[in-house]
Amino acid sequence: MDSRLEAVYVEVMRRNPGEPEFQQAVLDVFESLGPVLDRHPEYTEAAVLERLCEPERQIIFRVPWVDDSGRIQINRGFRVEFNSALGPYKGGLRFHPSVNVGIVKFLGFEQVFKNSLTGMPIGGGKGGSDFDPRGRSDGEVMRFCQSFMTELYRHIGEHTDVPAGDIGVGRREIGYLFGQYKRITNRYESGVLTGKGVTWGGSLVRTEATGYGTVLFIEEMLRTRGLTIDGKRVIVSGSGNVATYAIAKVHQLGGRVVACSDSSGYVVDESGIDLNLLRDVKEVERSRISAYADRRESARFVPDGSIWDVGAEVALPCATQNELDESQALSLVRGGLLAVAEGANMPTTPAAVRVLGKAGVLFGPGKAANAGGVATSALEMQQNASRDAWTENYTEQRLTEIMVAIHQRCVETADEYGQPGNYVSGANIAGFVKVADAVLALGVI
Ligand code: GLU
Repeated sequence: MDSRLEAVYVEVMRRNPGEPEFQQAVLDVFESLGPVLDRHPEYTEAAVLERLCEPERQIIFRVPWVDDSGRIQINRGFRVEFNSALGPYKGGLRFHPSVNVGIVKFLGFEQVFKNSLTGMPIGGGKGGSDFDPRGRSDGEVMRFCQSFMTELYRHIGEHTDVPAGDIGVGRREIGYLFGQYKRITNRYESGVLTGKGVTWGGSLVRTEATGYGTVLFIEEMLRTRGLTIDGKRVIVSGSGNVATYAIAKVHQLGGRVVACSDSSGYVVDESGIDLNLLRDVKEVERSRISAYADRRESARFVPDGSIWDVGAEVALPCATQNELDESQALSLVRGGLLAVAEGANMPTTPAAVRVLGKAGVLFGPGKAANAGGVATSALEMQQNASRDAWTENYTEQRLTEIMVAIHQRCVETADEYGQPGNYVSGANIAGFVKVADAVLALGVI
């Protein structure tokens, strides 16, 4: 790594001990920035890197709530408001037992560059809690969300910080959060949260946007090699919101998804994943994925091992961070892999990214490939600000244009900096330069 970057990185490691995911996310960006600092000495002079690695504000709070048996439960809540040079902090809330400040910081840091890359006026932030919604009743989830918002409301607002969903936070949770915000503030401030239901201020296509966008992105990548997703064999890891709509879009475009997963294992279905059945199992019943295989003859459930061993031409990791490692990447390459796009945030380990790069596999990093979700959140904010509701066609058309433009920006930037075809560099540099210029323009703040 460049010595100017190395010095800042060593300091980031020292100041953020015990946060491996955050350190990994910073390293990933820094590894792309050497040529940028050569061209822009002003970034080094004005300590732009140091400023971008330090969140503007970090809020950690207690979330007390009462479970169905009358016992008091205590969770920890987080909101890391990372950077607001381009607009209000924007990014999701994750409810998962693995959530800690390091995870939230990695997600918030990535969000800054992802949001910049969308071309929309949004800064970056992230939040969540170590609350585990799995196995909790609706009433418990509601009481948790109400308690979480009872602290969070003082830190957010349509012009300040606009949370949305992420793992464990979907339409139901956003509803309870919005209800409590409205009750405490006595304001119907639609723009304070995105991912709302369409009858109460949400945008059409927001639910589908991350998964759709990821597939639109990989379609653009494949096009650069004269290929399409039509007829391709595809693995999608995960079975939540991102995975579900990635599968839907792959099928719309003529590909065949042969495997998907949850934390209990994966299913292989050579006749193509039946999306209606998957949604019944995961969204409606909130069951484990083995229930899918129980009800479908062509499918089998595999409780252990790796979904990536199934083999495919296209792989879409849509579950969680660091879910695709070096040996799994090697196995995918041996299976004839052509392209990977990250629907989740940082699902591919750095060593796996290197394996894919060496093998000449197209690789679309999450900052670019999964930016359709947050971009459509920005479209939701636009509709809220103008008290309007767009049609499905128009909204999907805007999403498609945004994904094509992000792809173009990555390709052009990678070319400009002498690394043609390197989407990691393209995304990191294009995302970074826009934020860095805004930070410079706003003075020492
Ligand atoms: N959690 C999503 C992401 O990782 C969406 C954030 C949003 O819509 O604000 O980008």
